Amino acid sequence: MADNKNPRPAVEETIIIGSGPAGWTAGLYTARGNLNPLLITGNDYGGQVSLTYEVENYPGFPEALSGPELVEKMKEQAEKFGLTVEYDHVSEIVTDQHPFVVRTANGKEYKSKSLILSTGARPRFLEVPGEKELTGKGVSYCATCDGFFFRGKELVVVGGGDSALEEALFLTKFATKVRIIHRRDTVRACKILTTRAFANEKIEFVWNTVVTSINGNGSVSSVSTENTITGRAGEIKTDGVFVYIGHLPNNDLYHGKLHLDEDGHLITDKKMRTNVAGIFAAGEIQDKIYKQIATSVGQGCAAAMQTEKFLAEMESEGYHSAGMDAREFQESCTFTPQKAERELVLA
Ligand code: NAP
Repeated sequence: MADNKNPRPAVEETIIIGSGPAGWTAGLYTARGNLNPLLITGNDYGGQVSLTYEVENYPGFPEALSGPELVEKMKEQAEKFGLTVEYDHVSEIVTDQHPFVVRTANGKEYKSKSLILSTGARPRFLEVPGEKELTGKGVSYCATCDGFFFRGKELVVVGGGDSALEEALFLTKFATKVRIIHRRDTVRACKILTTRAFANEKIEFVWNTVVTSINGNGSVSSVSTENTITGRAGEIKTDGVFVYIGHLPNNDLYHGKLHLDEDGHLITDKKMRTNVAGIFAAGEIQDKIYKQIATSVGQGCAAAMQTEKFLAEMESEGYHSAGMDAREFQESCTFTPQKAERELVLA
């Protein structure tokens, strides 16, 4: 943490926003690159991986480990090389001036020559009646956090991806029955999870079905459903509903400032560059395809390496930021990608 013994410079070399695998990796690499990086965690410390009970597909950990354990190991490793961590939430970034400005919920303001954005994604909501009202009263998006409260109960999991099946399997440790409600008749989860879920006696699949409302007075008692083929309405009694129907990128900071795709992900090129020179992005905020811890780590590494290169080239160009506005800065960056290449990537 930044304190009086370790005062921050007036202008940071780089600020990393977000504390998931991409952020910690960017922190590790920029720290080892001697950039004295600052990482601002955000409210959801550790990102989505910290909500994961067991990580068994991240290389190097054959025995598997919990999401929070992996986050702590990543943090410890980055801090060992000099990463400074601030437990704060970024409320605003200013991208049309250089150095960039980062303002936080705790009222701090930082200036930085470069930014690495790794704000990740958050769970998608079902958006059916009762969901909001019963969140925390039986509706949950985190089996790791809330599964324990459902010992001996019956549960519903909504979704057919890796998250739904993985978390349903976890929930069988507590629940007597877990019904996975999926809108189609095949899952998109990987083979190993699918095989395990099919083999688990506590799991039952409810195919071709969507949840139309979550019912209960103060706590969940049932879900109303509709068959996607016949249209027939139904009701399934349950004590809890765990929703795993994908994620939405955490992009609130970027609207009108950085280019986003139609789903709200930051657009980056292969060098993790956004459309503003000096601002890089990594992890699920820009990745709509892979969304794995391993790929986020790789993207965080690439963003850090590009940041180092950017700062080194900025230095060698003799650039100094005083008084230069964003346009002058962009134009002064002879080392920034060729316009044509960038336009191609952003098209
Ligand atoms: P996902 O792969 O996008 O799956 C979302 C699921 O929710 C799909 O089955 C989808 O149905 C369903 N769905 C979407 N909107 C819905 C709605 N409005 N109503 C009902 N159902 C809806 O999301 P995810 O499972 O969270 O996984 C995200 C990424 O993380 C993936 O790349 C995944 O591989 C990765 N991940 C990996 C692991 C692991 O490796 N162990 C664990 C967790 C996540 P359709 O299938 O019909 O589209």
